[in-house]
Amino acid sequence: MKLLEEMSWPEIEEGLKVTRTVILPVGATEEHGPHLPTITDTIQAMETARTVAQKREVFLEVFLAPPIHYGVCRSTRGFPGTITVGHDALRSYVKEVLISFTDSGFENVLILTGHAGSQHMSALKEACQMALEEREFRVSLVSLFDLIDPQAAETPHDGHAGEIETSMMMVIRKDLVKGLPEEHFPPRPRFLIMKDVRHLMGNGIMGNPAPATIKKGQNFLAMAAEGLIEALEELESDCWKGR
Ligand SMILES: [Zn+2]
Repeated sequence: MKLLEEMSWPEIEEGLKVTRTVILPVGATEEHGPHLPTITDTIQAMETARTVAQKREVFLEVFLAPPIHYGVCRSTRGFPGTITVGHDALRSYVKEVLISFTDSGFENVLILTGHAGSQHMSALKEACQMALEEREFRVSLVSLFDLIDPQAAETPHDGHAGEIETSMMMVIRKDLVKGLPEEHFPPRPRFLIMKDVRHLMGNGIMGNPAPATIKKGQNFLAMAAEGLIEALEELESDCWKGR
């Protein structure tokens, strides 16, 4: 597998003759309830990317870049262990990373994010748009939550640290899953913008971890991998050229 961080530059130069596509996993260092580790979003993106990079090895290779571990986390920032950067910092950081990928010889970059807060997503999208103003390359922005059908979960409106994330973590790192707490859906104001919502967040879960299982986790991860393969095909095809 073309793991960028483990390759030397001559190996990367050779590899670029085979493929100019790279997956860049992005996550967050963020509380995920009393039962999941802070690396949850990052490791889910890494694992999905790794599965696909391994699968693609057979017919069409892809590079796998080291992940970005810090993202924008607004609502959970009052918890110990949520380490966040602001929107502008993530935007300019990712923009410069994208530009550097193109200067390094990559032509297609797929950002796969395991964290999908609204400010985090808009920072990533703007970073892609700004990099496109400065370099000729192709870039896709995919969130894991775009790829996993929420209907596949038992829990309606399952979210942060709930059934889906807990199930996937049971597959990826079962040793880091500390039990299956009860459902928890913290109340959130509909329109009001508050400085701090920590007091509304309870134990930090926004979903239902209780029905999580390894089997469901395998299913969610397979769904994510399948969607990622489709996203890579779109990124590498010319079907949107001139439209
Ligand atoms: Zn998460």
